[in-house]
Amino acid sequence: MKQQALVINCGSSSLKFAIQDASESAPLLEGIAERLGSEHSTITFKYAGTKTEQRLYEHDHRGAVSAIKAWIDDHPEAGIQLAGGGHRVVHGGETFHQSAVIDEDVLEGIEQCAIFAPLHNPAHVKGIKEAQALFGELPHVAVFDTSFHQTLTQDQYLYPIPMRLYRNHHFRKYGFHGTSYRYIAQKLASLDANYGTQNALVAHLGNGASVCAIKAGSSVDTSMGITPLEGLMMGTRSGSLDPSLLAFIADAEGISMKQALDILNKESGLKGISEISNDCRTLETAQATGDDRADLALTMFASRAAKQLASVATNLDSIEHVIFTGGIGENSPLIRSRICKRLTMLGVELDHNANQTAPRGELNAISPTGARIKVWIIPTNEELLIAQDTLELINAGHKPS
Ligand code: ADP
Repeated sequence: MKQQALVINCGSSSLKFAIQDASESAPLLEGIAERLGSEHSTITFKYAGTKTEQRLYEHDHRGAVSAIKAWIDDHPEAGIQLAGGGHRVVHGGETFHQSAVIDEDVLEGIEQCAIFAPLHNPAHVKGIKEAQALFGELPHVAVFDTSFHQTLTQDQYLYPIPMRLYRNHHFRKYGFHGTSYRYIAQKLASLDANYGTQNALVAHLGNGASVCAIKAGSSVDTSMGITPLEGLMMGTRSGSLDPSLLAFIADAEGISMKQALDILNKESGLKGISEISNDCRTLETAQATGDDRADLALTMFASRAAKQLASVATNLDSIEHVIFTGGIGENSPLIRSRICKRLTMLGVELDHNANQTAPRGELNAISPTGARIKVWIIPTNEELLIAQDTLELINAGHKPS
């Protein structure tokens, strides 16, 4: 039986890919095509510990997928036997509650959800169509960032605005990072059968950042909303604020609402406050050498993350686990300790030595032995989950209808 999936995460100017089986082993091949749409587009392949970079001569998504196909054809010794393609899709709206084998209806559904993700979903559709054209014999599966949160109850997903806006336009909280949260829930349950029935607060802290309350494996609340702008302060996104500010910014700067929104999405967050960088590691280096503004940005980031964790915790009867994941969550002892300190009132305790010395990229418990709430670092693996869903659906015989 063919055992690998070609996992594709297609953005507007980049395409990340991996050839992954359903096990926890590292991908057979992975890489990224960047600067698509410009004549400087390149693609990197990481195989057997070696990274190679090539220029792309066809500068678009098709060029990237063709280069992946050519690499596979040129390397029979790699033993790649693809069962299908697995595509990350940011927005599945209310249409997709789980991953789906892609047919015309599914593609149309993804296109319809593009109103809420105008940059992402059209790029995903492009990637899917190119992969279908070049790997025509393979079935393809869509895995949605939103679907894990479709378990939220109406009282949690509705915004307190006129109901007609939900009825007529589906304006509601959707939540994102669902593939990451589902992986974490699955991983936690695999550590101990009891953990799968318990409650967890999860902080996915990367350039984009969100939190999720997970009750016995299901999402009951999350911080991102109709778009990934709501909730935590992020690398360049403001997170939640008084919506009136949007009109004030537009008026004061003489710009459109859309331009004001761009400021909240692209110029705010860690970058906006520090005026140095959106990158947590860069800010930690600056803070360590006494830069007050970097310190302020990091303090605000941690404070807002803790507030959002406490907020989603109101949907749980108890908390058994607090989990950190994402580039910052997995690698920053400073941010983890600042967040945990602010969650002391919930009973969260940290083993400071374990927090400081946790080896990078590994699953680790960082709470004191016997603590009521276990605090964990669990490295996320969205590609693996996409590969698992793809292989499961295809091997179960699901076909495009
Ligand atoms: P994305 O949302 O783009 O997937 P990632 O999950 O890759 O983001 O996280 C990127 C963030 O992780 C950046 O802010 C980066 O500085 C931060 N990060 C990575 N390694 C470290 C580290 N050792 N210490 C602090 N922050 C780190």
